Amino acid sequence: MLETLRAQVLEANLEVVRQGLVIYTFGNASGLARQEGLVVIKPSGVPYDKMTPADMVITDLDGRVVEGKLRPSSDLATHVALYRAFPTIGGIVHTHSRHATAWAQAGREIPCFGTTHADYFHGPVPLTRHLTAAEIDADYEGTTGVAIIEAMQGREPLATPGVLVAGHAPFCWGKTAADAAYTAVVLEYIAGMAAETVSIHPAAQPISEAQLNKHYFRKHGPKATYGQT
Ligand SMILES: [Zn+2]
Repeated sequence: MLETLRAQVLEANLEVVRQGLVIYTFGNASGLARQEGLVVIKPSGVPYDKMTPADMVITDLDGRVVEGKLRPSSDLATHVALYRAFPTIGGIVHTHSRHATAWAQAGREIPCFGTTHADYFHGPVPLTRHLTAAEIDADYEGTTGVAIIEAMQGREPLATPGVLVAGHAPFCWGKTAADAAYTAVVLEYIAGMAAETVSIHPAAQPISEAQLNKHYFRKHGPKATYGQT
């Protein structure tokens, strides 16, 4: 079932390892077959070098396993919450990549300090609130999804394709699992540059709204002019 999507999800998982965002069995990627209402997600705790498409786990949008012998990633409930809330997305990647996680641990959103950032995120990379003790006890992964959705209020998911979970790490998304992996790599690069920016100049300010819009809309939307037609 969903052989192509299984292969795509495995590839997204391997891409973030190749790009140095994931060590050991950290991180997870998933993809959505929206028509079927089915999620393909990495299994929990299986070494990447042994993982095959057949190891991917298929669940419904309530997180119930539909096909697969292995247990799904422990972050499954976060993934399904985001798929239910954001109808335009089809892939999610979660890593503990070094620089993006440092911002999440510092409890700071990443301001849009420059055009590299503005080419991919139409504004800052948001930060979630901290979860309460009751939320952590009752449904940790599900309420992580709730907190991400709250942080995304008023934002378009494909224009803000990732969020930092406070005290944890980033979740990124896109139209496909491959897009989500790409964004996770870009976010890590942006986060590293932003950290260097504030280390050079702690009071550095975000770029102007005009420059933000120029760069974002040059690459995205109906008036995009970047690349070849
Ligand atoms: Zn995590």
